[in-house]
Amino acid sequence: MSETIVRLSGVSKRFGPVEAVRNLHLTLQKGRILALLGPSGCGKTTTLRLLAGFERPDSGEIEIAGRTVAGGGRHVPPEHRRVGMVFQDYALFPHLSVQQNIAYGLPRDGKRADRIREVLALAGLTGLEDRMPHELSGGQQQRVALARALAPEPAIILLDEPFSNLDAALRARVRAEVREIITAAGTTAIFVTHDREEALSLADEVAVMLDGELVQSAPPEELYTRPVNREVATLVGEANFLPAEARGGHARCELGEVPLLQDARGPVEIMLRPELLRLHPSENGSATVTGREFYGHDQLVRLRLDSGTVLACRLGFGPRFKPGDRVEISASGPAVAYG
Ligand code: ATP
Repeated sequence: MSETIVRLSGVSKRFGPVEAVRNLHLTLQKGRILALLGPSGCGKTTTLRLLAGFERPDSGEIEIAGRTVAGGGRHVPPEHRRVGMVFQDYALFPHLSVQQNIAYGLPRDGKRADRIREVLALAGLTGLEDRMPHELSGGQQQRVALARALAPEPAIILLDEPFSNLDAALRARVRAEVREIITAAGTTAIFVTHDREEALSLADEVAVMLDGELVQSAPPEELYTRPVNREVATLVGEANFLPAEARGGHARCELGEVPLLQDARGPVEIMLRPELLRLHPSENGSATVTGREFYGHDQLVRLRLDSGTVLACRLGFGPRFKPGDRVEISASGPAVAYG
């Protein structure tokens, strides 16, 4: 049986008139990486700060590694929560070397030197121990911040928008490195992001927050294929919405008959991801290409049906559609139906 490392039970936090976090329930098992995903102002950072102990909840309870750290009249201070923090700007001590940064929070005992060596190796920093932070690349600074957070063997590490300071070219690589390091350390982690690609590619589980509330928490694949509502669908990827008439496991829409992920009946709205659509050049087609975004590995073709419905279709590298082309669209599904 896996062990629950974090449990938030009915946690709420208000700042004056703003309900930053509302009745939040969330659990996370040992060794898992959770992304808190949501638009600006939805309460992600407040949730992280509540976990770290920088804020006190107005109601509800927070448990970390089997111990109540907040709620029920209790407030364990941040330094006693077994929580490691990685801040957006890394917050490295500029006047301390890599090794001194990592050593900072460690007790001065016989195990200190070994632990520093271990963490340096884990974070791929061996050989850089005497460098100063300004002598490191952004990705290396990120790894030092991570190594410093991991050094005291926390029950969980919390990362606030950890990749926002890296340029796009570096981000994907550092992301993969960070995941490897966290996994190798066997640590549980929660990171905050407003970037869906980051959440889906890095996390084992993604918790979507909207307006202070947790709307859906699921593994990335499930979140992408079965978003609970329109807002989540749009937040985690490109989404097409079409009115339809459902009958059991199928729905009839402008694109024809589409299989559904779940049984439904009556008038619904269906959601189809762009990669579930196919385009066929046809002068007698029912849609017009309005635009094309080329991403190298794939492309997104924007379309308008003669009825006015706007859609997006994701295609591989090859086919070249241009604005004005007439096409026929088919949908393979399965689609998600919203009542
Ligand atoms: P971002 O991605 O922009 O950082 P977020 O999802 O992390 O946003 P929070 O920072 O948690 O959102 O803020 C949630 C809401 O609470 C916002 O409306 C914000 O203005 C408000 N808020 C957060 N901290 C405070 C504070 N200390 N005092 C007053 N209001 C606050």
